[in-house]
Amino acid sequence: MHLIDPGSAGEHVQRAATLLQSALGTVPVAAGRASGRVNLIGEHTDYNGGLCLPLALRHATYAVVARRRDHLVRAVSTLAPGAFAGDPAKASGWAAYSAGVVWALREEGVDVPGVDIAVASSVPVGAGLSSSAALSCAVAMALAALVGPIDPEVLLRATIRAEHERAGAPTGGMDQTVALLATPGEALLLDFADGSRTPVGWAPPDLALLVIDTCAPHELSDGQYATRRADCETAAKALGVGTLRDVDEADLVTAHGPWLPLARHVVTENRRVEEFAQAIATGEWAEAGALMTSSHESLRDDFAVSCEQLDTAVDTALAHGALGARMTGGGFGGSAIALLPHDRVEETAEAVLAAYERRHWRKPRFLLA
Ligand code: ADP
Ligand code: MG
Repeated sequence: MHLIDPGSAGEHVQRAATLLQSALGTVPVAAGRASGRVNLIGEHTDYNGGLCLPLALRHATYAVVARRRDHLVRAVSTLAPGAFAGDPAKASGWAAYSAGVVWALREEGVDVPGVDIAVASSVPVGAGLSSSAALSCAVAMALAALVGPIDPEVLLRATIRAEHERAGAPTGGMDQTVALLATPGEALLLDFADGSRTPVGWAPPDLALLVIDTCAPHELSDGQYATRRADCETAAKALGVGTLRDVDEADLVTAHGPWLPLARHVVTENRRVEEFAQAIATGEWAEAGALMTSSHESLRDDFAVSCEQLDTAVDTALAHGALGARMTGGGFGGSAIALLPHDRVEETAEAVLAAYERRHWRKPRFLLA
């Protein structure tokens, strides 16, 4: 069984610098780094004014930049075929997350020159581990290193705008927040009602957090995410509240409407985040695991964003001694996480590999958070 290695900063910056020189013929003058993440719990809550608890990975994306004499942008990545070259306002596809950040920072009033950008990464792409925000935030950090300090809140707004307005993915802000503000190995309790961010210690004794990248096809911008988001707004309106954060679990007992299961997920998920944060603070790891599994069931049955590959990963991990397991990220593919004793990692991963092989699914990949 192979675990994807985070590699070292030096190694990735060197790879990006070599690419910048070979593909674009320029020498980098500044670099930036941003982490991928797993969300421990609190899914589809960020855009509902709710709570989530993402953990920054040691796996990260690195960007290097060189200043140009004009206002154009060129961008290359070790993981993307072809280069972007042109006006960053026209960036789309993968360039939305790189060149698009230059556009967004200018929209925010920051004076950013034209740049050449090269990117290297150890974050699996499209795996629900937020490679998109790791990319946009690594570029933002590199640009901040180039032009001088930029207010972190401006960097946050710009990277969210790049993802919304250039990539067309209306994500809720969790990914960019953790990519820009969390240190690797640290979890952040994010409250999207009051904007607070509270660092939370994450040090389960003798336990590992295994990330299973299902490698099932996954595209957040394919409309499913946007549909759920719109349906949540409909639910909030029908319930007479600004966001689903303001709904009491008790109020749902008498509520009815096609949106009820969606609302029930969001409302119960916010409670689970609070209980989970409490459980890990007091070292109740069995309780924390059980909450992860309940979160998965709610995402599968009420929010309907799981898939067979995710359910199989979760069920297999639980059958092999995981304290808890759940899908993480937006869903429809992507990754699952399992909290399990260190000495069960190998056997669990082998069992997931075997289960996928039996069903002729793509081979999953693994890493440790
Ligand atoms: P996730 O964020 O879960 O990995 P998304 O669908 O949100 O999945 O983002 C994946 C997209 O982000 C890719 O299709 C690509 O456009 C872009 N991307 C992410 N990392 C890189 C990278 N290192 N190089 C080029 N493009 C990347
Ligand atoms: Mg993403």
